[in-house]
This record gives sequence, C-alpha cells and structure tokens, in this order.
Amino acid sequence: MKNMWSDTDARDMVEHYAEQGVDEELALRVYTTRLLGRNPELVLHGGGNTSVKVQMQDLLGNQVNVLCVKGSGWDMADIEPPGLPAVRLDPLLELRNVERLTDDEMVNFQRTNLLDANSPNPSVETLLHAFLPHKFVDHTHAVSVLSLTNQPNGEELCKEVLGDRVGIVPYVMPGFPLSKIAEKVFNENSDVEGLILIKHGIFTFGDTAIEAYDKMIDFVTLVEKRLNQGRKQVFSGADLPASILPAAAVGPILRGVCKIRGSIGDNRLKPFVLDFRTSDEILSYVNGVGLYRYSQSGVATPDHTIRTKNWPLIVPAPDAENIDSFKSAVENADALFVERYKDYFCRHSARYSNSLVALDPVPRVALVPGLGLYGLGRNAKAARIAADIAESAVRTITDAEAIGIFESVSEEEMFDVEYWSLEQAKLGKAAEKLLAGHVVVVTGGGGTIGSAIALAFSQEGAEVAVLDIDADAAQRAAAATSSTALGIECNVTDGASVRAAFDQVCETFGGVDIVVSNAGAAWQGRIGEVKESTLRESFELNFFAHQRVAQNAVRVMIAQGMGGTLLFNVSKQAVNPGVDFGPYGLPKAATLFLARQYALDHGRDGIRSNAVNADHVQSGMLTTKLISARAKARGVSEAEYMAGNLLGVEVTAADVAKAFVHQALQTKSTANVTTVDGGNIAAALR
Ligand code: ZN
Repeated sequence: MKNMWSDTDARDMVEHYAEQGVDEELALRVYTTRLLGRNPELVLHGGGNTSVKVQMQDLLGNQVNVLCVKGSGWDMADIEPPGLPAVRLDPLLELRNVERLTDDEMVNFQRTNLLDANSPNPSVETLLHAFLPHKFVDHTHAVSVLSLTNQPNGEELCKEVLGDRVGIVPYVMPGFPLSKIAEKVFNENSDVEGLILIKHGIFTFGDTAIEAYDKMIDFVTLVEKRLNQGRKQVFSGADLPASILPAAAVGPILRGVCKIRGSIGDNRLKPFVLDFRTSDEILSYVNGVGLYRYSQSGVATPDHTIRTKNWPLIVPAPDAENIDSFKSAVENADALFVERYKDYFCRHSARYSNSLVALDPVPRVALVPGLGLYGLGRNAKAARIAADIAESAVRTITDAEAIGIFESVSEEEMFDVEYWSLEQAKLGKAAEKLLAGHVVVVTGGGGTIGSAIALAFSQEGAEVAVLDIDADAAQRAAAATSSTALGIECNVTDGASVRAAFDQVCETFGGVDIVVSNAGAAWQGRIGEVKESTLRESFELNFFAHQRVAQNAVRVMIAQGMGGTLLFNVSKQAVNPGVDFGPYGLPKAATLFLARQYALDHGRDGIRSNAVNADHVQSGMLTTKLISARAKARGVSEAEYMAGNLLGVEVTAADVAKAFVHQALQTKSTANVTTVDGGNIAAALR
C-alpha cells in the first residue's frame, strides 16, 4: 500500500489551520485522517476513526487534557477540526474503573464531557481511543486485514504476519466492553505498535501523526504481501446461459420485485434505487460454483450490516432467451430472502428484553451471476454506499478464500450490531420525502421549464435524469438539480438515441417511474400556405418524440410491474389554436390525445397518463421594466399586458414544474389535464 504522506502537504495543512488558531497537532490529525479516509482499501463509509490527545483551554482559562476524536456524521475523507470534537480526557479515563456501562450512559457521559456542547457525538469507539496512552491513534477496517482475520485461524495468521508488533483482540461488539478488552490486551504487552481486532479491523498508534500513519501503511502492506503468497485458484466458474440479459434489462426486473410494500393506511409504493457494478473481480466472484456458501457467510466487518444487511440476495444468471423464467426466479429468491430475514429477526429479537422493531426485510445487495452486482437503497446515495461495501466484500472474501476459508462473525453477533441503537443512529432519522426511491426522466431538461421540473422532482426526494439534445445543457441542469442527478445527451427525434438514454437511466438507477415528456419547439406558418416539410418537422418533435419517449417508458414500467406515471407538456395550443401557429398546435393537439390514449390502454398496467397545458410562462422574474418593455413590443398598455391571463399574474417555469409534481403525487388521477396559465378561458377544458 502506497504511503501518501507528504512533508509539503503536512506543512501546508499546519500553516492553513494556524491562521484559524488550530494547533499543529490537531492540524496534522486532520491531515492523516483525510489520508486514511481517502483510501477505500482502508476506510469505507464510516468504517474507521482517529484521535489525538492534546491540551486545550476551557472557558475559564484552565488547561485541560482532551481527546479530539472523530465525531459521528463526519466523513474522514474531508474532515475539518470541528469533526474531531474535544472530550475531557481525565473523566473518560476514570471509566476504566467502572465495571458496567449501558450505551445510553456511555453516550451521555461522553456528551456531558464535551468542551463544546454543540459538537457532534464522539465516535462509538471513543473509549478505546481514550484508554490507549498514545497521543495519536488511528483505526481502520482495512480490506486486507479483514481477509486475514476473517478466517477460522485468523489469530494464528495475524501472529505469523505481524508477530509481537501487535496485540490481538478477540471479536467483541464495539462499545464499552470492547474498549476494556482492548486495554487489557494492550497492557499485556505495552510495547506493541498496534492492535488487530479480529473480524473488525486494525488500530495503530504513536507519538506523532506520521508515526501512527506509517505503521498503518506498513502493517497493511505486510498483510497484503501475505495475501499474495500461496494463493489457490478461487471460484471456478459455474455454467452460464449462452446469452446474458444486459444490466439495463435486469435492473427494472430486480427493482420491481425488491421493494417495500405499502401497509394499511399507507399504500404508497416505496421503491428502491439501484447501483450496478461489474468488473473481472466481481464476475469471478458471482460466477463461482460456491457462491451460495462464501457469499452467505456474513459481513466482512459488523458495521457493514446496517448498509448491506447480513447476506446479499442471489438470483440465477439472467438468460436472455428466457426472461419470464428469470423474473419468476427473482420473485422466488426475494420471497425466500424476506422469509429468512423475518426468521432471523424473530430468533434473535427474542433475546432482548426491550421490544425491537424489525427493519424492512428488503435486500440491499443483489448478486447476479453472469452480470455483476447491484446495491439497493431508498436513494441513489444509499444504493452507492451499499454497492461500494458489496464491492469491498468481494475483495475481502476473494482474498480470504485464496489463502483459506472466509468466516464472518456469528449470526447472533451480527444481529446485535445491526440492531444496536448506536449503529442505527448513524443512518439518521430524517423523514423520507414523498418521492424517495422514485426515478424521474425529464426530456428537454436543459431548458428553463425542463430544469425547473428536474429541480422540483429532486426536491420531493426523487432521483432525476435530465435528457437534452444539448449535452452541456443536460449536464448543467443535472448539476443544478442534485449531486446524484444524471445529465444525458438525447435527441428525442431519434429512436436509437431515446433507447440509449433509457438504457443509461436503467443502468444508473435501475429503472424509471415517472417520465416528463417536455421537449418541444414552436414552428409557425399560415396553415393554407405552410410547407408540408415544416408540418412534418414539427410533428416529429411535438408528437412522434412524445410517443417514442412514452413507449420506452412503458417498456421499462411493464418490466418493473409497479405501474408508473407519464406526464406530457402540451401547450395551450393543444386546446386553443393561435393565429399562424398551426404547425405547433396540430401536433400538440395530437399529443393531448396521445396522453389520453396511454391512460386508456395502459391503465390496466397501473400506468397513469396526464398532461399540463401551460401558457404565458415567463422565463424569469418579471421586473416592472421588463413588463413595460414587453407591453411596448406588443403595442399594448402594461395593464393590458398583465391582463393576458384572467388572474393578471405572472406564470413561471417553477409553477409549471409544481403542476407536474402535483400530477405525479395524485396517484388516483389519470387522463387529467392541468392548466397552468393564470386563467385562459379559451384554453380551458371541461
Ligand atoms: Zn471499528
């Protein structure tokens, strides 16, 4: 493993924080915490923490010994000094003499000894850091260390590789008991330079930041070398169908099966977003004949269980020649998974005196032989985390199997971590938004109205794909929408381009639930004289493109089998023709009819189809100056200009976007048209 320490960077960091009054040791603590956090082979999504013991002045001017330890909610990769809250060290050390401490007592004690009451909660491994005497303590869940410790003879292997340089701590759940046992192991030989926590991770320490960091890299490198010795051939390939269904087709099938079903009083669909991964290493793993053994033994390190559950779902290889049988095999596999999870909960929750509430039984990782793996989450970020952890588990288990046999902690131990309140607290308890887990495609998403629609859906919790003929505009709108939004170049008048865009959305998010077919442009011409080519060109974009987009959406929605929503942007022209606007109004009128035809033909699939007929949409805020200029250009007074609609109000892109979101949320409405025009009686529908 490469040592990333740089004297220049370290010095820059010290100087940078000195300007903010942060002392050198804390600045260097921030520096090496980031070095560790940025290496996914060491730290992945909260799997690690660091600390430094320094003196700080309290409000009264007293110098106090404090432990600055990683706070929960902070990512090590971009931690800042406030991410290492200071806890008074002396009271923490007195806990060494305490026999028992509940989790609540531990959290409360740590919080009441914070120097700043506004700090985040100190890490669940705070006491382990406190009880070690060293100034700098580093902790990671290094992938390679887990390959070594997660073996029936893990302790023996660690001794072989690292000898007396480390103390070996048997597996104990994190928290107070682990900190006591780790301290005991350390006291048996206080010359050790680190601790190996069996089936959990590694600690290194030192008097300086560089010393603790160097040891982490050295030890991990020694372990990596051992994993490269005497490897046996792993995972001989199982028989696969000649032709495998692509990820874009498998995603919607998986998504349609693995979802939270509505309960009484809450019949909303709660779908998951998927994150697909594949590589030679993943394929070797999912294609192995022993997959049902090695993939089901459990997580690599216990805190993974809150992101991935204990076991991944395994489905058969998707035979492109027999999609129906694949679909029913996925349904069976999922039903078994759910049963198994419920049994597991009943078996272990019985041990608890307080009543636990079961978590949802939906898998968070799916392994697909012949194809790769999927992470599943209630949003794109959660799906990405699950997929990242699944990929790292593939690495851990592959290396473990290459030198021996992978072995996880017991099911009982996993349950205790999965249902540990301090682990569940890491997931946060923010209320889910109404469209969480839903995937929305917006065509013409780079324009003013399209980007407002994309943003409005994202604000309701949906994942958004912005399609636009202008690749830059699509990227810009996606970036302005959310960090997970996807920008795709797409020409809606080209069938292959639309198909490719939908495939990309399905590969990225796993499927599609809502499509806002918004791309359009106005052609003009007096109908008795207009060229047929003009009319055809307008029909291509303002009618056929809607049909093409809707057909692709329906194809994906039927594969998912959980209904869907088609939303069309039809102008007021669809109802109320404008002078010399025939080439625009005619295809828009056909598209209004199209929306109704979809409602009629696909209601039986649970697919709803609605339209918005907007008019008088202003692209930005109307200033008095702008109103005056526009009124002048039209040869009317300002009052007459504003009275262009019945309410005399300005209609914005955001208003149109709101109408689309409203239609998506009205799950009992189909074949509906919503006017957004401030009132235009000639364009009013019955
Ligand atoms: Zn840990």
